[in-house]
Amino acid sequence: KMARQFFVGGNFKMNGTLSSIKSIVSALNDAKLDSNTEVVIAPPSLYLIPTRDHLRKDVEVAAQNVYDKPSGAFTGEIAVDQLKDANVNWAILGHSERRTLMGETDEFVASKTAHATDSGIKVIFCCGESLEEREANQTVDVVTRQIAAVTKQTKNWDQIVIAYEPIWAIGTGKVATSEQAQEVHAAIREWLKKNVSEEVAEKVRVIYGGSVSAKNCKELAQCADIDGFLVGGASLKPEFADIINAKI
Ligand code: PEP
Repeated sequence: KMARQFFVGGNFKMNGTLSSIKSIVSALNDAKLDSNTEVVIAPPSLYLIPTRDHLRKDVEVAAQNVYDKPSGAFTGEIAVDQLKDANVNWAILGHSERRTLMGETDEFVASKTAHATDSGIKVIFCCGESLEEREANQTVDVVTRQIAAVTKQTKNWDQIVIAYEPIWAIGTGKVATSEQAQEVHAAIREWLKKNVSEEVAEKVRVIYGGSVSAKNCKELAQCADIDGFLVGGASLKPEFADIINAKI
């Protein structure tokens, strides 16, 4: 396995208050974290600035979304320059909750990914199939279709982490087995090798998301093509530190 830095993201989704997020930040500040793991947490946008202000400097902060235009009449949206102004260097894009609940298309997610990375915001790009698609053996088709949309709009793969998140595993407690996850991660890398380049295929981090916990993270972390995790529910709990430390 080549040396790709292990990456763990925490997606708080629409959870937390000023006070509960302050407690999570304090706990992370006091925790012993593997210095070989890159860590990024994504609180709701309202809490990005206080999180960045109080969080240890070796942990980065991500927005849960960002728009694909520089500024202007886009009520409710946030611009990449506003994130940079707040010392936020990452955004999660294409999360399945945004794709399914807000109707975000492959092309729109790709457009936001291109605009963000062109403007210096790194992206955790999420992809993944529904249970229906898995049962119809369409998993690799769906995931590579979502990634192909990105390759049409940007070459900035050095600023992208791919999060493979099967929808049936998100927030359900039904984690993919390490075999199921490894199989899709390897297929993603194979697709990148054929359709982007061997270098990108080797260098890009492909992380797994979907009911990751302190209990199941160590086995998943052993897989050759699993370079870390995107963690929802467990990122709000003390066990998030154990997930960051999955490799030790
Ligand atoms: C997520 O929302 O990215 C996620 C993986 O959620 P959970 O860990 O709660 O399944």
